[in-house]
Amino acid sequence: MKKNNEGKLGIALVGLGGYAEGQLAPALQQTKHCYLAGIVTGSPSKIPSWKEKYNIPDKNIYSYENFDAIRDNPDFDIVYVVLPNSMHAEYTIRAAQAGKHVICEKPMALTVEDCDKMIAACKKAGKFLSIGYRLHFDPYHLDMIRMGTQKEYGEIKKIVTEFLQPSVKGEWRLDKKYSGGGPLMDLGIYCLQGVMYITGMVPVAVTAQTFPVSDKEKFIGIEENLDWQMEMPDGMIAACRTSYSGSANTIRAEAENGWFELDPAFYYAGLKGSTADGKIISYAPLSQQAKQMDGISLSVKNNQNSIVPGEMGRRDVKIIEAIYEAMKTGRRVIIETD
Ligand code: NDP
Repeated sequence: MKKNNEGKLGIALVGLGGYAEGQLAPALQQTKHCYLAGIVTGSPSKIPSWKEKYNIPDKNIYSYENFDAIRDNPDFDIVYVVLPNSMHAEYTIRAAQAGKHVICEKPMALTVEDCDKMIAACKKAGKFLSIGYRLHFDPYHLDMIRMGTQKEYGEIKKIVTEFLQPSVKGEWRLDKKYSGGGPLMDLGIYCLQGVMYITGMVPVAVTAQTFPVSDKEKFIGIEENLDWQMEMPDGMIAACRTSYSGSANTIRAEAENGWFELDPAFYYAGLKGSTADGKIISYAPLSQQAKQMDGISLSVKNNQNSIVPGEMGRRDVKIIEAIYEAMKTGRRVIIETD
């Protein structure tokens, strides 16, 4: 463990998969307000390399079985749940019951009912719950939010956004029990989020269309492709597309006086923005995850909810449920306000 962790909040990563190993742990070497204090894993074989690489003491290493004992570990302030989607609810609730703040990866849970239980558990424990929405901390997306919500190009008339990326056979992402759905749960959620933060609005209704799958053994009970439309309160329609086949990664807003877009939009790095009047948006490389975890840690330190609270995750799961209903029924589904 790094020596100069005084004043930083300790984060425990739960589930040492691709995202925890490839992005979050390296980002925690750059953070100013938090550090990697410990790990929770079901794979003993992963422990030696994590211990060595990040100097994690044995007392800060847990399994899913003894997870609840983290309540007695003062090194952990925040538990970061990086497990398959179906496990988010259980581990968020157990972490809150152990007296820890929680960051939970997207999508928050498989159902709104589970989101409610997670929010209630954190409230009862007096702990903050945030969702791992990294792009709210990314400068390219902050520019898009500014241009959209401040109407720098006038009223937005249309948003077109796509996130298509191939998925690998055999992954939990293709098993509905673990994923809760297809690319909408995994990739399309970025399009859905983007439309809302760029407009500052929540859709009032959705429509959706899916198409026959290309591989019946791979896509069982989950969509491979999905087009959906979000009808915003001012009548603007956002056209969204996600897929586990093909490749695309963009968001483009067309406003009264010009367009602005990111292409690519949703990757960890290498984003690029441009506007109708010839501006190129470009920033020096940075870690979105370091900014995200620092931002959330700072709000915890200040005893405030973060800008990506559990309520936002719940809102998105509710919209996802409506999109799936529209996909299955072919109907326009109205999103009731709570
Ligand atoms: P991986 O499959 O790479 O890792 C998941 C880890 O969860 C496994 O390595 C394992 O860790 C643990 N696990 C426990 N039980 C199971 C189980 N039954 N099946 C599979 N894994 C299990 O997934 P990712 O890291 O890609 O995704 C994890 C979460 O993070 C997802 O919710 C995903 O949506 C989200 N994510 C978010 C991203 C973002 O940009 N915000 C990007 C990528 C993912 P162990 O062996 O240590 O127990």
